[in-house]
Amino acid sequence: MSHIVDTNDAAWRRVLGPRSILLAAPRSFCAGVVRAIDIVERLLERGAPVYVRKQIVHNGHVVADLESRGAVFVDELADVPAGATVVFSAHGVSPAVRAEADARGLDVVDATCPLVTKVHAQARRFAGRGDTVVMIGHAGHEEVEGVMGEAPDRTVLVETVADVDRLDVADPARVSYLTQTTLAVDETAEVIEALRARFPELRGPGSEDICYATTNRQDALAVVAERSDLVLVLGSDNSSNSVRLVELARRNATPAYLIEDATAIEPHWLAGVRTVGLTAGASAPPGLVDDVVALLGELGPVTVTEHETARETVHFALPVAVRAA
Ligand code: SF4
Repeated sequence: MSHIVDTNDAAWRRVLGPRSILLAAPRSFCAGVVRAIDIVERLLERGAPVYVRKQIVHNGHVVADLESRGAVFVDELADVPAGATVVFSAHGVSPAVRAEADARGLDVVDATCPLVTKVHAQARRFAGRGDTVVMIGHAGHEEVEGVMGEAPDRTVLVETVADVDRLDVADPARVSYLTQTTLAVDETAEVIEALRARFPELRGPGSEDICYATTNRQDALAVVAERSDLVLVLGSDNSSNSVRLVELARRNATPAYLIEDATAIEPHWLAGVRTVGLTAGASAPPGLVDDVVALLGELGPVTVTEHETARETVHFALPVAVRAA
């Protein structure tokens, strides 16, 4: 990255000085994002264009980079030429979208994260045994739309504890819950508790739906945020797990901002700030973190300390069709 700090600018001059940077670890790409990007890159090696339904992952830099190499992101399958190859994004799709792809004779390569696929399987199982399925998540998020599409007539969405109070179900003894993979761990626990209070026979997934990457990034940032004057989170504003990180820091009473990249930093955020906590959502490329460290280094000497709260070794295999490529 070329210099972005103009030290002749009075606003930047006012915030010159030494700083400590606390890097949260784990941060940045998760296994599901690495796999999804890898799938598109391997298909691009075979030839462009490669059609992708929705953003492959919720990050503007990733999408722009793949677009520059020949990926074409479309909102609807209707925008994909008949017979072409289309990649389903990491967030997954509903059965209706799969059926539409079939009907149009599209060659599908599925980049749905395996941990999202697991939630789809649970939705089918819970609905199949006759339960009302309560999906805890955010309205309009692609993952939520995909999962709810498994059993649209039996699934209801709740976002908050207040939503739980308003729930009206056919049989209170037959209620199951699922969660979006990228929610705040603590807030979700409160919603589940409220559900259990209303429906004592509530059933849930065998293991947590909030994924390891979301949980680890929240745990790591919680440690860093309480020692920082300011938290910066690399990520796009449609990235659920990134937004949750900003909210977590703010709940810890630490000022926090979501930034697409280093150029989004406003000098006045740094006034009086000696310790900056830094992390990146699961869809944000690691190089963006390096750029922020470099920018802060342009303002004065920095010491960088990493706080690692977990070591991630998760790796997801690629789909066979892409591996063969
Ligand atoms: Fe998969 Fe979690 Fe990454 Fe989403 S954040 S792609 S669920 S590992």
